Amino acid sequence: MKISDVRTICTAPEGIRLVVVKVETDEPGLYGLGCATFTQRPLAVVTAVEEYLKPFLVGRDPDDIEDVYQSAYVSSYWRGGPVLNNALGGVDMALWDIKGKRAGMPVYQLLGGKCRHAAALYAHATGRDISEVEDEARRYKEEGYRYVRCQISVPGYSTYGSTISPGPQPLGLGSDPWEPTPYCRLIPKLFERLRDSLGDEVELLHDVHERVPPIQAVGLASELEPYHLFFLEDPFAPEDAEYFRLLRQRTATPIAMGELFVNQAEYVPLIRERLIDFIRVHISDIGGLSMARKLAALCEFFGVRTAWHGPGDLSPVGHAANLQLDLACHNFGVQEQHVFDERTREVFPGCPEIRDGYMWPSDSPGLGVDIDDVLAAKYPFPEDPLNGGWPPVRRLDGTVIRP
Ligand code: MG
Repeated sequence: MKISDVRTICTAPEGIRLVVVKVETDEPGLYGLGCATFTQRPLAVVTAVEEYLKPFLVGRDPDDIEDVYQSAYVSSYWRGGPVLNNALGGVDMALWDIKGKRAGMPVYQLLGGKCRHAAALYAHATGRDISEVEDEARRYKEEGYRYVRCQISVPGYSTYGSTISPGPQPLGLGSDPWEPTPYCRLIPKLFERLRDSLGDEVELLHDVHERVPPIQAVGLASELEPYHLFFLEDPFAPEDAEYFRLLRQRTATPIAMGELFVNQAEYVPLIRERLIDFIRVHISDIGGLSMARKLAALCEFFGVRTAWHGPGDLSPVGHAANLQLDLACHNFGVQEQHVFDERTREVFPGCPEIRDGYMWPSDSPGLGVDIDDVLAAKYPFPEDPLNGGWPPVRRLDGTVIRP
């Protein structure tokens, strides 16, 4: 059996730019799908797949997943990074999908089989003030969610992950500014109230999104300790990872890190030194299922649990890949959820099912998700002057910060 074609399918049924890789074989009707979604630079990934990986891979045996990964990885000499990793990650997932279909088994069976029935999910509660966040978190709790990530708008600022409360726009920034101090003052008040009103049975999570100076993040993690978070995410940027040693000496607030990681040189030291508690990588960003299963195994030996990145800028194929690992890895922690709309579920038949706060597997062979090429083409990428790139976020004086 040989790989006969490698191509990308671009679609945006929810307006989010998704890139799916389709690897076809010379066996009629046998193909695999992988997620290669890098929604801020999707066209660069398409070029990497179609102009570089396709000619490298056509004629190869799709069964040789490890050799395909290793040889393609070094074929550019300068390797890694989010563009090349997503391109290769999409191919890698597609090869696992093919292998599962050939075996007549879901991919989690090839990874050792299920060690849980379904993957516990965390939902996203947001609001313009503490009461709105509290109401939304309570609603999720009543729906059966045991984990809720809570983000709150800081009045007047363009807070990450929450409803925006518009405020004055000094200096004509063109968007709401961001300042770290009002945010760092508000977050402990939010979690004091949530823990008090929601009780101890719900696990609470929060994402700092690398937006505050490192020493303020250390202080915030310490102040949140009395409220027993399940995890505090991305307190530092990857570039500031040296601060984890200081943070660990100050607080036992559990730490999740890594949705921006693209290289093992970034995550291996944090795991080896037991400086984080949850690994948050976006699996196509590190090279796909092959790299993610190795990473999960490494984490297991160092007490680190998995919490794979699972937002809307990951196709249902990517969510299905996360789910295979969630089911098969003993050190699963929690899975971020995205509830896909009806259009997306039509484009991607077999999209993983969400029910009672869990993501449930199907018994379909491979990753269990298909794509309707014709329907996918009905949802082209939206017009955008930045082609999906993010506009800047700035402080009151105009200084650009991390988004
Ligand atoms: Mg995050």
